[in-house]
Amino acid sequence: MQRTIKIKLVEDNDLIETIRIFSKARQYVNDIGFKKKIFNKNKLNKLTYKKIKKLYPNLPTGLIQTARDVASESIKREKCKRHIKVKEFSSVRLDKRNLRVNLEHKLISISSVNGRKKITFQTHRLIEKYKDWKPIAGMLCYKQKQLYLNLVVEKDSPQINLGGIQVEEDILGIDRGVNNILVCSNNLFYNSKHLKKIKGKYQYLKAVLQKKDTKSAKHHLKLLSGKETRFVSDTNHRLSKWIANSDFKVFVLENLKDMKHKNNGRRFNKRLGSWSFKQFETYLKYKAEERQKLVISVNPKYTSQTCSHCGYKDKLNRKRSNFKCLQCRYELHADLNASRNIAELGKPIFSRLLVNQPIVVPMATTSQLIH
Ligand SMILES: [Zn+2]
Repeated sequence: MQRTIKIKLVEDNDLIETIRIFSKARQYVNDIGFKKKIFNKNKLNKLTYKKIKKLYPNLPTGLIQTARDVASESIKREKCKRHIKVKEFSSVRLDKRNLRVNLEHKLISISSVNGRKKITFQTHRLIEKYKDWKPIAGMLCYKQKQLYLNLVVEKDSPQINLGGIQVEEDILGIDRGVNNILVCSNNLFYNSKHLKKIKGKYQYLKAVLQKKDTKSAKHHLKLLSGKETRFVSDTNHRLSKWIANSDFKVFVLENLKDMKHKNNGRRFNKRLGSWSFKQFETYLKYKAEERQKLVISVNPKYTSQTCSHCGYKDKLNRKRSNFKCLQCRYELHADLNASRNIAELGKPIFSRLLVNQPIVVPMATTSQLIH
């Protein structure tokens, strides 16, 4: 399993200059690739390497290669249709060739335009937590006059004992929506009133600031966006921790890709538009993994129209937040009904895992299987 941790670095002109030159090299590859409609790495290398070496003789070879790789990937993503403008300080992708980190001794060494830079850093709780993980890659960033290293660390996935899981008792279905952020198949509701209120407040303040075209307004807007991002992220951390710490061992979620299709975006109204369901899912997966629990995704098709009691499927079963089965007359909250269906859909998937796998499997294998 992998995690990314953010490490604040002290100001270092060589590193800042490295980021600037790296961005220029990236721009050069982007320019050539766009002009010639090429994104193949080898072809781009032949066309640009010598020139970049000449233009920026101090940029280490490893970083020239990464700049080319990053540029090639973005040209490919844009299908050569858009001429990409690289920021003055774009993030520098680092790998084993140009980054060494010792978390234990708080030492980082990075290739720069002025040779290898050895720097130390301030540790904090999160870094301490991953001290015994293996650093494998990183991103060097310079944002708002602050240098950061986003470091990717890795550790063997823990073993999960599937044999100890009871299908009927240990599986929790979770429905995600706008009125209720989460509704769980064990009758737990987490409504979005508070979240909407806070998000509404931020949106109002942002709208006010956006109308003013002053430097100070822009500055405040930036600060506000940061606050909003942190609020969403804190909420997601709290919710996912609460779920992961419950007695349940398998969590079943709707597959977000299918969810978009199902809802045509209607369910995710503007106010919660940027509320990150994906982030919640990522956090839950992390926390579940650490507790040797599983997260399964299912296709949510018909989960809102099907009766969780008798299985009868009809669009008319549901009227807004109320679900009343036209066949068996069972009545309950529509989101709760959906969450129970989601739990049911997860059961056969989990059972297949049990049949196909040895009883104890590494997490990575199981997650590959379920996605
Ligand atoms: Zn029914």
